[in-house]
Amino acid sequence: MTSRIVILGGGTGGTLSANRLRRMLDEDVEITVVDQDDRHVYQPGLLFVPFGLAAPGSLVRARGRQLHAGIGYRRGVVRRVDIDQDRVHLADGSVLPYDLLVIATGARLLPEETEGLTAPGVHSFYDHAGAQELASALAAFDGGRLVVDVVDMPIKCPVAPLEFCFLADWYFRRRGIRDAVSLTYVTPLDAAFTKPVAAAALAGLLARKEIELVTEFNTGSVEHDAAGGRLVSFDERVVPFDLAVVVPLHGGAGYVEASAGLGDELGFVPADPRTLQSVARPNIFVIGDAAAVPASKAGSVTHFEGEILTRNVARFLAGQELEAGFDGHANCFVETGFGKALLIDFNYDTEPLPGRYPGALGLPLLEESRLNHLGKRMFAWLYWHGLLPGRDIPGIGSTMPRSGKRLPAVRRPVPTPHGQPHDEQGD
Ligand SMILES: Cc1cc2nc3c(=O)[nH]c(=O)nc-3n(C[C@H](O)[C@H](O)[C@H](O)COP(=O)(O)OP(=O)(O)OC[C@H]3O[C@@H](n4cnc5c(N)ncnc54)[C@H](O)[C@@H]3O)c2cc1C
Repeated sequence: MTSRIVILGGGTGGTLSANRLRRMLDEDVEITVVDQDDRHVYQPGLLFVPFGLAAPGSLVRARGRQLHAGIGYRRGVVRRVDIDQDRVHLADGSVLPYDLLVIATGARLLPEETEGLTAPGVHSFYDHAGAQELASALAAFDGGRLVVDVVDMPIKCPVAPLEFCFLADWYFRRRGIRDAVSLTYVTPLDAAFTKPVAAAALAGLLARKEIELVTEFNTGSVEHDAAGGRLVSFDERVVPFDLAVVVPLHGGAGYVEASAGLGDELGFVPADPRTLQSVARPNIFVIGDAAAVPASKAGSVTHFEGEILTRNVARFLAGQELEAGFDGHANCFVETGFGKALLIDFNYDTEPLPGRYPGALGLPLLEESRLNHLGKRMFAWLYWHGLLPGRDIPGIGSTMPRSGKRLPAVRRPVPTPHGQPHDEQGD
């Protein structure tokens, strides 16, 4: 009997899942990908556009062309999913019935949720148009206070605003006007990053590059008048600016709210963090930024999730037990300017640690190096030619490697006289 898989979203997760599933499943399984537009943007490249380090046009390709033969591509805006009737309703009135649904509609930027975010002098590099406008604004900026602000978590690629600060430092030094520019990083977190070891390393880098760090700042509004611009927090702290680069609040796709029983209050879709099966219905799986799981919203996470999710979709269709295989694995190159980058690698249980990835002879972790920078710049090629086609990348598995990492002392099981472990010490 024919099974119908509908994949909502033809970005990173939707594309790589469709391509993997097409290879894994028989011809009698129909696969249809739905997306609202035909412009697949390589989002990590947006970081480089404001600094003239990437041509905006080079980041965009046609969505349909990233999908393998035998996959249907439907252009349309999803309005609602009826999880009781197993149907997707599109804005043009058409209805797509499914046996299995994969939600890959990512995260949506919500600048309108913060008062004044559309004021003059406020920019963002989180979408294609914004990154290009910011390139012009930076080129015209000859000095003053540049503030980089994260309104709230979660955001896509939580290190990207820090990378923006490091690159801004490099950019103004190269232009010979660094002394005339004050750089400030403003975050709602209580540190530069969420995980303590990486947060300390990143705060050290900010300090070395003379970038001020303002923590626990929950942006309530952005004000702009003849005296200049100001970020104002809910507890009425003020950070003045001449140019602000703001990462707006993120939410899930708009249709999630209109789909009874599917999502949470932010429009993300709760799922089992290890199988990626939705909480709402067993025949709905979730991948990437759309998922309400405790993993980072990052392309690397989406890629690692894809391996598990597609295996679980095949298992579900075959009536087999699901694999609780996703460990929250995330890794990210953190561009630090001057042709260098850091690399971080972590999962649900292990925070980013120093060492090497993916093993003892690999790339340095939590340490600036040119090799990491080359890795970051080469990643675009790997994205289009390896990740999206759904190929396995030798040595880069979905499970976080422990070898190569310098782990803190962990408690190892100590046998009791009765042969039962009673404690854990060392690893
Ligand atoms: C500036 C920036 C830098 C980044 N840097 C990195 C990095 O260095 N490393 C890293 O790993 N990750 C990075 N990321 C994050 C990475 O790009 C995302 O995590 C990844 O693309 C998530 O994939 P996804 O499939 O969940 O969502 P997306 O790739 O965003 O795809 C979602 C798709 O759903 C479609 N869609 C949404 N709503 C609807 C609807 N109602 N109807 C129809 N279609 C809809 C959209 O059009 C889109 O194509 C960065 C992101 C940004 C913005």
